[in-house]
Order: sequence, then structure tokens, then C-alpha cells
Amino acid sequence: MKVAVFSVHNFERDYLIKSNAGRHELILLPTPLSESTVALARGCDAVSIFTADNAKAGVLTELSRMGINYVAIRAAGYNQVDLKKAKELNIKVARVPAYSPYAIAEHTIALILALNRKLMRAHQRVMDLNFSLDGLVGFDMNGKTVGVIGTGKIGTVFIQILRGFGCKVLAYDEFKNPIVEQMAGVSYTDFDSLCKQSDIISLHVPLNDGTRYMINSKTIALMKPGVMLINTSRGALIKTKDVIEGLKSRHIGSLGIDVYEEEEGLFFYDHSDADILEDDTISRLMTFKNVLITAHQAFLTETALTNIADTTVSNLDYFSRRESSPNEISA
Ligand code: NAD
Repeated sequence: MKVAVFSVHNFERDYLIKSNAGRHELILLPTPLSESTVALARGCDAVSIFTADNAKAGVLTELSRMGINYVAIRAAGYNQVDLKKAKELNIKVARVPAYSPYAIAEHTIALILALNRKLMRAHQRVMDLNFSLDGLVGFDMNGKTVGVIGTGKIGTVFIQILRGFGCKVLAYDEFKNPIVEQMAGVSYTDFDSLCKQSDIISLHVPLNDGTRYMINSKTIALMKPGVMLINTSRGALIKTKDVIEGLKSRHIGSLGIDVYEEEEGLFFYDHSDADILEDDTISRLMTFKNVLITAHQAFLTETALTNIADTTVSNLDYFSRRESSPNEISA
């Protein structure tokens, strides 16, 4: 198959080439798929896209017009694809449902520990030959209550790691996970109780109508003063402006995010040559010493990149044989 692979970043290039092993003709394009770049796929049999590409109705219609009926997503999330339109146009869409829940769960822990033990400030001080400790006091993780919102693949691994620290875990999910239910020190509760009782709250649900802006001024008001809030799932789970107010009032003690609701076009790219940062909201977030931001890198491990590339090439194999991939998704 000839495949236009959009949004190829340097970090994944070698993994894709290795997994493909010459099976498909991959046209590796750094640009994201959009209405203005879709023409680059002309002459191909399939496209492959990443998290921030646009595969909405207009783009899918154009792909269909060009005779392209296959989309291979190199990620688990699929909110960038209009699945209803894809079904209508008979375009098959496949994704990588799981590549390493450990990668994301471990990065979540990294954010928590770095914020708690103030590692960014500590490192800056040492580099400045300032070896004083004032202002760097953290807390023991042992005995703290962590609220885990979403107990699917990532949430479950995250809870397993937390239990190693000796944390008490409060879990919330619309469906209880029997594996989590059986874990010692973990109990399911309702969303409000989790907010009220947790010292740390971490989000592991997908973005959907039921989860969009689940963290807002009303739910923040329920939380313990000084709460640590962590989001490695999707930016729009939290209403960023409300979280900024929570940080300003000191109700939120610290914030760690790997995702941001306006991250499209910002994260994954080097803007260091730009004179100004256009986005006032993230600019404000960047002024807080108790906020740690990473640019959607929780998945970025060798294991995850290998699995993403292997599954994507396998999905292309299914497409080329006109067979249904087990990773196909449909409206
Ligand atoms: P999963 O499908 O295994 O688990 C999601 C859980 O959320 C499920 O248990 C589901 O029941 C629950 N859920 C869904 N809607 C809900 C609602 N309205 N209310 C309560 N619970 C709800 O997914 P996963 O593999 O654990 O991934 C979780 C999320 O992590 C993904 O959706 C994605 O947004 C994010 N993610 C981030 C990165 C990153 O690099 N930062 C990488 C991969 C995934």
C-alpha cells in the first residue's frame, strides 16, 4: 500500500521505518492532515495520522474523492476523526488501542513526585550554586489519599504503582473494574466524595460528552484546599481558566499537566524562534512555580513507540488484504 503518513515527528520516524520493514510505501510527511494539506495524499491508498490531525467531515470527503478509504491512527484516541462521516463514506478507521499503559502511568507519577519534591526549583537552585533548602518542603506519599478518575488500562497501572507508595486510593469510573475492586487499599466512590477527600487527584478518562470540563469552578470548590491536580489524559477534561482561578486563590496547591485544551499546533512543535507566545492562558499557567507542564510526552517511551509502529503497520497489513483489523473503530 502507498500510505501518506502525516504529522511524522523525528522521535517516531525510525520506529515506523523499522516496523514497516519495506512492506508498505510510506510517504513520511511532517505536516498535519488538514483541509489545506489533504492534497498531499493524492495517489495514496491510505493515510496515517496522529493525535492533532484533522480528519473531520471535509477532509474525509476529500480523501474519499481521491479514492482513499483507509485511515490508520497512530494513537489510542480518535476524537480527531469524524467516525460518523467515515462510516457514511465507507472509510475504514483503525487505531492503536493500547501500546503501553505503563508509559503514561509512570509519567503521571513523575509529575506528582517532581511537583511534590519541587524538583524543578531544586535543580535550578543547584545550577545557581544555591544549595539552601528553604521553600522545598514536600510531603510523604505514604498514607496520602489519591483520587483516580478513570480505572481503565492506565488508571489501573497507576493505582498499582500508588499502592507501592502506600497511598490510599479512591477510585471513580462509570464502570467498576473488577481488578481494581479487588485491590487492597482501594475503594470506589462517587465523583463528589473523591473530590472532597483526595490530597491528589489524577484524571484517566477519555474526553467525551460526560467528561468534558469535569474539573471546573464548581468541582474545584469541593476539593481539599491545597489539592494537587494532575491531568495526563486530555486537555479539555479541565476548564483551564477555572483552574487558574483555583491556583490564584491557592485552593489548588499544585498542578501537573501533560495535555492542554488548546494544545493543537502548540505542543509537539518547536516555537522557540517565535517572538511571542500567542496563548494567554498557557502563558499565565507558566508563571506559577507550582505548575509543571510537559508537552504531551507521557506516551514517549521506546516500548510505546515500538508498539505504536508495530500495530499501525499491522493495521495497514489488514487494510491491504481487504480484511477487517481487530483495531478497527466505527461510529
Ligand atoms: P481506557 O478506555 O482503558 O479507560 C478509560 C476509563 O474511563 C474506562 O474505565 C471508562 O469506563 C472510563 N470512562 C469513560 N467515560 C467516562 C465517564 N463519562 N465517566 C466516568 N468514567 C468514564 O483508556 P486508557 O487507555 O486508560 O486511557 C485513558 C486516557 O488517557 C485516554 O482516553 C487518553 O485520553 C489518555 N492518554 C494520554 C496519553 C498521553 O500521552 N498523555 C497517551 C494515551 C492515552
